[in-house]
Order: sequence, then C-alpha cells, then structure tokens
Amino acid sequence: MNLSVNTRMPAIFAGHGSPMNALSDNRYTQALRAQAALMPRPAGILCVSAHWYTDCTSITAMARPRTIHDFSGFPQALFDVQYPAPGDPQLAQKVQSLLLPMAVPADFSWGLDHGAWQLLVHLYPQADIPVVQLAIDATQNARFHYELGRRLAPLRDQGVLLLGSGNIVHNLREMRRGEDAPPFDWAARFAASVRKAVLAHDHESLIDYGAFGNDARLAVPTPEHYLPLLYVLGAQAPTEHARVFVEGIEHGSLDMMSFSL
Ligand code: ZN
Repeated sequence: MNLSVNTRMPAIFAGHGSPMNALSDNRYTQALRAQAALMPRPAGILCVSAHWYTDCTSITAMARPRTIHDFSGFPQALFDVQYPAPGDPQLAQKVQSLLLPMAVPADFSWGLDHGAWQLLVHLYPQADIPVVQLAIDATQNARFHYELGRRLAPLRDQGVLLLGSGNIVHNLREMRRGEDAPPFDWAARFAASVRKAVLAHDHESLIDYGAFGNDARLAVPTPEHYLPLLYVLGAQAPTEHARVFVEGIEHGSLDMMSFSL
C-alpha cells in the first residue's frame, strides 16, 4: 500500500475576489465550505497570498499571527473581522528546511492578510488550525515560484494544506460595475486557456503565461494574483488531477476559478 498517496492532503488554489466575500454567503463562499467538508482536517495550513508580495521569500513564524486589514473603503464590519488561528513556528521551520540552501527569513511582523483570512473564514470558521503565510518574492520570475511549490510538496504528505489565494484574471482598472457584468473577451479567453492548461497538467504553458500575448497582459497586469497558482501547481503530483470546484468571472475582469488537487 502506498501510504503517502493515501494520506496526501489536497492543495487548493482559490480566487478570493472582493474582501467583502469574507462576509458574504454566495456561491463562491459556499463552494469553499463544501470543499473543506470534502477534505481531511489539515494539521496545518501554508498559505501563499497575493497580498504578501514583497522583496524576499519570508515565512511567518509567530505563535499568534494578527489579522491584517490591508484595504480601505470597506464597511466597518469588515475591519471588525478577526481570524484568531494560531501560527505554527514548527511548520515555519519545516518550510525553511525544505527551501534550503535558499535563506527564508522568519517573519514576526506580518500575520494573516485578507487574501488568507477571507478564504479561511469560510474554509475553517473555527480558526482552530494553525496557519503560516509564505511571502511572494516580487523580484523572482514565474519559474522560481513554481519551483518553490515543487519543493514544498512534501508538506502535503505531513497533513499540511497548501492554499494559494489569488485570482487568475485580476484587472481592477478595467473592472465593470455589477458582479454579473459580462466578462471582457480577453478575460474569458485567458481564463479558458488557463483552465484548459490546469486540467491538462500543462504546467509549462502556465509558467510561460506571457505567451498568451495581449490576453495575458490584460488579465495579469501585475503578477501577484496569478503567482499563487504556480505554487499550487508546483506541488501537484504527476498522477493527480485538478478538480475545479467553482468558477465565474465577476465585474468583467475578476476570475474566481478555484480548484483542488
Ligand atoms: Zn486580492
């Protein structure tokens, strides 16, 4: 019996969209709750969020990460949300070991940004599973991020849920009013290309997403919401299939496609 396959935790890439999803009961947040119910309970969560996009690959190592309200112009109720999950200094150390010889500084000042907690409040509302966050190094190329995912994959065999939080199409400048505004053609095409490549295990096309041309330039005007996808795909086993658990393009230019491995 291959125990490691039987005990491997799923990995998730989820579209987070508006921070207001933290307070909403809609098909995206319902899909997160349904997905959590399908999975074994994780021993810990390693989250890669679009909203910790900085100049090196740090890992949160505090015992009690704070809930960061890294946005403005939203109702007070959103600023009142707390996600008091513990940190996991031991998991942070494991991440540091797996990424050696690269130095991964232990971070004691970040916490959980809204990319992390707006998903976690639906996945694990009890906030009783330890969470660490890995920063995205903005100075590195797409292949670097994919490679980090590959090196972090063994954590899945130790009960750790890898959670990538971003949006495959994320262009706030082009956004249309109304959640159900029709998608821009370029957004629909790019989302469909990425979906097809994810389901076909075509990682090279997803690492080299710039080859999708003008659609990619419009869908990914800056890389931070796309890159969490590459961490999750890096951790995908060759025999594993992705399962899309919810999808849809909001406001014309915000792709909510989410999948699990
Ligand atoms: Zn975001």
